[in-house]
Amino acid sequence: MPSTAFEYAPAPESRDIARLKPSYGIFVNGEFRDGRGEAIKTINPADEEPLAEVAEANAADVDDAVAAARKAYEGTWSATSGAERAKYLFRIARAIQERARELAVLESLDNGKPIRESRDVDIPTAAAHFFYYAGWADKLQYAGLGPAPRPIGVAGQVIPWNFPLLMAAWKIAPALATGNTVVLKPAETTPLTALTLAEIIAECDLPPGVVNILPGGPSVGQSIVDHPGVDKIAFTGSTGVGKMIQKSVAASGKRVSLELGGKAANIIFDDAAIDQAIEGIVNGIFFNQGHVCCAGSRLLVQESVHEEVIAGLQERLQTLRLGDPLDKNTDIGAINSSAQLARVRALADSGDAEGATRWSPDCPLPDRGFWFPPTVFTGVSQANRIAREEIFGPVLSVLTFRTPAEAIEKANNTPYGLSAGIWTEKGSRILWAANKLRAGVVWANTFNRFDPASPFGGYKESGFGREGGRHGLTSYLESEGYLAQ
Ligand code: NAD
Repeated sequence: MPSTAFEYAPAPESRDIARLKPSYGIFVNGEFRDGRGEAIKTINPADEEPLAEVAEANAADVDDAVAAARKAYEGTWSATSGAERAKYLFRIARAIQERARELAVLESLDNGKPIRESRDVDIPTAAAHFFYYAGWADKLQYAGLGPAPRPIGVAGQVIPWNFPLLMAAWKIAPALATGNTVVLKPAETTPLTALTLAEIIAECDLPPGVVNILPGGPSVGQSIVDHPGVDKIAFTGSTGVGKMIQKSVAASGKRVSLELGGKAANIIFDDAAIDQAIEGIVNGIFFNQGHVCCAGSRLLVQESVHEEVIAGLQERLQTLRLGDPLDKNTDIGAINSSAQLARVRALADSGDAEGATRWSPDCPLPDRGFWFPPTVFTGVSQANRIAREEIFGPVLSVLTFRTPAEAIEKANNTPYGLSAGIWTEKGSRILWAANKLRAGVVWANTFNRFDPASPFGGYKESGFGREGGRHGLTSYLESEGYLAQ
C-alpha cells in the first residue's frame, strides 16, 4: 500500500538546547560528586552515539546517600511545615516549566521518544505533579488519613527508562509533600533528566540530603532496596524485578509500593465511533513506541466490526512517521536500547512461529540506532505469547469477541491488571464493563490520559499501591487505624 503521509520538510529541534555536559556526577547531600561505581556512557538510541559519561554509584555511595537522607529527615525536613515544603515544590515545578524545552530535548536524546511527546506530555505532566502535590503539602490533615498523618522516613525509589523525568516526578513529588526524604535511582539507560532535576533541586535550595539521586544499574537498585536505613521502597519496573524486591523486603518492616508491568485490553464494541476508536488504538499502543506499562497492547474487537477496524487501522498507520526523535513531525521514535529491541524482536518472532499474521506499514528504518516498525498481529489466540506477555514495544496483538461477556472474560484473562480501554457509544455499557474489568485504570472512549489528580496503579501482577491523587499520599504516610485507600 503506498504511503499516504503528507510530506513535511524536516523540523528538528536543535540538540544544543539540551545543554549536554560531557560528564555527570551522582547527587548526594545537595552536591554533585564522582560516583565510586564504574562510569558508563549513555547513548542516543536513535544513532548509537554517546551523549555523555555518567558516574555510577556503588554500595558505599548508597550508604552515604541514605545517611544524608536520614540526617535531612531528622534534622530539618520532617519538622518543616507543610506550607514551607509546598514552597519548595512550587519552586521545583516552576523551574521545570522554565527549563521545559531543554528537558524535552534531553529526554528525547537519551530515551529516543519523539520530541512531540516529551514536549507535550512528559515534561508538562512532570511539572503538573509537583504543582499538584505542592497543593497537598499543607492540607494532609484533610486527606482522610487521620488528624496528623506522619511521614514514613527515608524513601528508596527505583524507576524505569520509559518516562524518565515523569517517573522521577511521580516518585519525588508525593514523598516530599508528605515530609519524607528520598534516595532515587534512575534507569541505567536514561539518567540525564533525573540528574538535571537534581540540578534544579539544588538551585531551588532544597536542604541538602532531602533528595539524593544515584545513577546506576540493578546492583545499585538492590543496595537501595536492601539498605537497613531505608523505611519505604517505591519501585516502578518489571513484574519480575518487583517480585524479587517483595521477597527481599519481606519481614524487614519496610513499606513497599510496586508499579509493575501490564498487558491492557483495549475493547472495541460494535457500536463504537470507529474512526475515533482507531485514533485511540494508535495512541494506546504506538505512543512512546509502546514502551508504556499501561499500553493497550491487546486489542479486543467485536467480530462484526473486525474487518472495518483493521482496514481503518492499517490505513491510519501508513500515515505515521518514524524517524529522528528530535523532528517535530515524528510520531514513532527509537527503541530505547539494543536489549529492549532484542526482546521486542524475539516476542514478535514468537507471534510468527505461533501462527499469527504480522503486518507493518511501508516504513523504512534508519540504518543506525534501534528501530522497530509499528506492527499489528491479527489471528492471535489467547494462548499465544504475544497475547500473554508484555512486549513493551510498538506491537499490537488483535483478538476478537462476539458478546460483551466474552470481551470481559478475555480482557481479564491475564496475570496483569494495570489498565483497560472501552470504546462504545453506550454509557450504560461503559459502566457495566468498567465494573467488571480487573484493572487499576479504565479509560472510556480515550486512552493513555494521565492527570496528577487521578490515582494510577495495578491489580494482580501489575503491583499494588497507587501513585497520583489523594491515594498517592497514602504510600508515603503512616496512617494506622485509618482507611488508607
Ligand atoms: P526493570 O525492572 O528491568 O528495571 C526497572 C528499574 O529497576 C531500573 O532502574 C533497574 O536498574 C532497576 N533494577 C533492576 N533489577 C533490580 C533489582 N534486582 N533490584 C532493584 N532494582 C533493580 O524494568 P525496565 O525494563 O527498566 O522497565 C520496563 C518495565 O517497567 C515494564 O515491565 C513496564 O511495564 C514497567 N513500568 C511500569 C509502570 C507502572 O506504573 N506500573 C510504569 C513504567 C514502567
